[in-house]
Amino acid sequence: MLISHLNHQLRERDALALTRQRRIAESASAPHQRLTHGAQPARDQLTFCSNDYLGLANHPALIDSVAEGARLYGAGSGASHLINGHSRAHVLLEDALADYLSTCIPEARALTFCTGYMANMALLTSLGYANATLFCDKLNHASLIDGARLAKASVKLYAHRNLPDLARQLVECTTPIKLIVTDAVFSMDGDLAELDELLALAEQFDAWLIVDDAHGFGVLGEQGRGSLSHFGLCSERLIYMGTLGKAAGLSGAFVAAHPSIIEWLIQTARAYIYTTAAPPAMAHALLTSLALIGGDEGKQRRQHLQTLITQLRQQLQALIEKHPTLGWTLTDSHTAIQGLVVGENATALALSSQLDARGLTVPAIRPPTVPLGTARLRITLSAAHTLADISQLMNALTDIVQTLENTPS
Ligand SMILES: *Cc1c(COP(=O)(O)O)cnc(C)c1O
Repeated sequence: MLISHLNHQLRERDALALTRQRRIAESASAPHQRLTHGAQPARDQLTFCSNDYLGLANHPALIDSVAEGARLYGAGSGASHLINGHSRAHVLLEDALADYLSTCIPEARALTFCTGYMANMALLTSLGYANATLFCDKLNHASLIDGARLAKASVKLYAHRNLPDLARQLVECTTPIKLIVTDAVFSMDGDLAELDELLALAEQFDAWLIVDDAHGFGVLGEQGRGSLSHFGLCSERLIYMGTLGKAAGLSGAFVAAHPSIIEWLIQTARAYIYTTAAPPAMAHALLTSLALIGGDEGKQRRQHLQTLITQLRQQLQALIEKHPTLGWTLTDSHTAIQGLVVGENATALALSSQLDARGLTVPAIRPPTVPLGTARLRITLSAAHTLADISQLMNALTDIVQTLENTPS
């Protein structure tokens, strides 16, 4: 019964062009990567889909550092943080991260997690008391949505980046604890939350601001300190979640916040307490990653990434203007996440598969991940891309668009 039910559901999803397939990476994360797709033989692809924004995932210094960390601390942590899995490497990383965010959150402490998903679960369930209200942007990341669902707090959704809508809900709120929860860079559009205005609202209504900076940490702000630094913010009311598997090139996440908040998470966050601590070698290598991000190399990589973003946007905009009948648009993004919104699921899928046939991997993103009718190609850039890589993508797209226009609909 269960299996036939599931098979039926799977067939329905397939009919809606919603089936997803995993590709197998046969080589390290890099723009030029060997991938196996389904039953086809492995092929070398040019990819525009990773979150390795600074191109550090395969950096020799990080590879060495993971190996060195394993020699120093062993391969696994052996236990959860509250038993005996909390190693000196984790402590050093917490201190370095707290220091990194200290210009934005005075006296911040930091706490590391195995993943960003778990950090968000921990934050929202531990701070989302029964007498609290969570105010969440409607386009927040799935991990924030799931954390809010699991929290005992009341949950209010406000329209995407709509501050008047949020302000109206704050005025009406009567719970003593109020937490505004937002992505800093929204994962599907690449647009930025107005963190300065959100913080002003938080101050006005005695609320706290939880910022998920998965796509900003390492990329935005001075020395890659992230979105808070990008907006020049500094406040005790900020609760910051950064991930370490994207720009930082490794794995994990952290929360930086007021020391009492961190202590409360250590004591109560089930996603922190009831799970094995990440390998200490990871924490050790993350110290190297932080040094790279904050140093000259990080600066150069961020500058190069910015050049690529500008180039890609200009060329996509030109393509869209040349073919107005297609009705395509570009998301309002100046970050490494660029969405080419084409509308129909089938169009996005066809584009993605035609690009794939030309050796380019650009994922089609469909509902429910994005709103109905806004299926898109989600192009993500990395500092490891070259200008020639962008030309290759644009040549392929231009080619495909011409075949689309010549096919009667
Ligand atoms: C990727 C992501 C997460 C989850 O982080 P992981 O470390 O991959 O679990 C959380 N929030 C946002 C906005 C993300 O993009």
